[in-house]
Amino acid sequence: MVELPDKSTRLIDWYLEVLDAAQLTDKRYGVKGMNVWTPYGFQARRQLDAVMIRAIEATGSAPVEFPALIPQTEFQKEKDHIKGFDAQVYWVTRGGATELDIPLVLRPTSETAMYPVFALWVRSHRDLPLNVYQIVNTFRYETKTTRPFLRVREIHFFEEHTCQVDEATATARVESNLAAFGEMARAFVLPFLAIRRPEWDKFPGAFYSVALDIPVGGARTLQIGSIHHYRENFSGPYGIRYEAADGSQKLVHQTTFGLSERLLGAVVAVHGDQKGVVFPPALAPYQVVIVPIPGKPGAPDPAPAALALADALRARGLRVEVDRSDERPGAKYYRHELRGVPLRLEIGAREAAAGTATAVDRLGTKRLLGPNDLPGAVEAALADFGAALRAAAEARFAAAFSEARSLTELRGSTSVRVLRWCGREACGHEVETAIDGALLGTAEGPLPFKVEGEGGCIACGASEGTRWALAAQPL
Ligand SMILES: [Zn+2]
Repeated sequence: MVELPDKSTRLIDWYLEVLDAAQLTDKRYGVKGMNVWTPYGFQARRQLDAVMIRAIEATGSAPVEFPALIPQTEFQKEKDHIKGFDAQVYWVTRGGATELDIPLVLRPTSETAMYPVFALWVRSHRDLPLNVYQIVNTFRYETKTTRPFLRVREIHFFEEHTCQVDEATATARVESNLAAFGEMARAFVLPFLAIRRPEWDKFPGAFYSVALDIPVGGARTLQIGSIHHYRENFSGPYGIRYEAADGSQKLVHQTTFGLSERLLGAVVAVHGDQKGVVFPPALAPYQVVIVPIPGKPGAPDPAPAALALADALRARGLRVEVDRSDERPGAKYYRHELRGVPLRLEIGAREAAAGTATAVDRLGTKRLLGPNDLPGAVEAALADFGAALRAAAEARFAAAFSEARSLTELRGSTSVRVLRWCGREACGHEVETAIDGALLGTAEGPLPFKVEGEGGCIACGASEGTRWALAAQPL
C-alpha cells in the first residue's frame, strides 16, 4: 500500500507519486525528461489519441507524417521562430564519422519541416484549404525542471497545420479548432478557458496565440494546448503562394493547433484523489474491471458469469478487464482504484446465481445491478459516473476564479484572478510582479464567472480600451 502525499497541500509531490504508483510512466530512463511509456500509460495515451483524432478529423483535417530531422537552412527562415526555439533544439551534426554539410535539427515543432513542402503542394485556390495534422514525437531541450507528461524533452505531440485563402478564413479555422477542442475537453472532463496570450507571451512567429488553460488549485494554472494564427508570417519566408481566381498570386494565411500528453497529466492532476488516479470513461485504459469473488469451498464458481458479462460488455464496445489474479479482493480493489478504473463489478456466488453484480464506481457510489439487462445497467452506471465526475469538475472550476481590483489584492492570491487591464505591456508586467506569476491574457468568449462591473486598469487606472484579463501562477 502506498500512502500518497496530501493532494491539496502538496500537489506536485502527490502527482509524481501517483504516476509511479499507478505505473503510468517510468521516469528512470537515462535521459532526463525522456520517460518510458509503460503498458498501462500507453493504453491511456492510445485513448487520448483516439479522442483527438476523432475530433480533428470531424473538422476535415487529414493525417500526415513529416520527417523528424529538419535542415538548418529551412529551420532558420522565419526569424522570430528561430529566436524562440534556438535555445531548445537538439542538433544532429554528424552521420557516422562524417560531419554533415548542413546540420540537422531534431524537430521541436514542425513548421519548418512542413512549410517548404506546403510551398510545393499549394498551387491554386483549388488546393485550399490545406488542413493536415500529425501525431509524432518532438524534442525540446527543456531547461526547467522536467515532470512526466507536463514538461518533457521528448514530447508526444499533436500538431495541426493549415493553409487558408485569407486572414478571415484562418480566423475561422482558429474558431473551428476551439470547437474541436471543446469536444475533446468534454471527453476528458476538463473545463477550460481559451485565453488570448499577450504579445510578449505568444508563440514565436505567430500573429496571435490562443492558449487553453485550466486551473489546478490555488492561483495555479496549466496550459493544456494552444491554437495560433500565423497570418502570412511563415508563408512569406517559405513562399507558400497560390493563384487566386482572378489570376493573381497570393500568400496563404496559416494556423496551427498543438496538444500533447500534457492532457493526460492534466486529467491526472484535475480528477485524482487520495486513492489515486481517476480516469474519465473516454480515457480509461479499461473502463470496467470485473472481480469474481470465490466463495467457500464447494460454492459455485462465479468466474463463468464474470467472463460472460465481460464478453457482453465488450460486444457493446466497452473496454473490460476480468481480474482473476490470486490476490485478496481487497488488494485488487485497492490497485484498480489507484489506477483510476471508472467502474468495478464484484461478482460472488450469490450474484452469479442471480445474474446480478455489485457495482462500485471510482467516486465510491455503490449499487446492485441487474438481473434485468445487466450489460445495459453497467453502461448506465458508467454514464452516471461520468456525469458525477463532470459535476464535481465543473463545481471546482467555477470556484477557482475570483476578481481582483487592485495590485495589492493580487499578492498572495489563492485563486486564479480576473482583473481589468488596459492592454499595455508595462501594466501587464506590474500584474505579473504582483501575483508572482503571469498575465495569461484576455478571455476568448465568456468569463468563467459573473463579474460585478467595469472599471479602470488594475495597474494604471486608465479606462480606455480596458478589458477583462486573467492572471495566475502557471505550473
Ligand atoms: Zn494600464
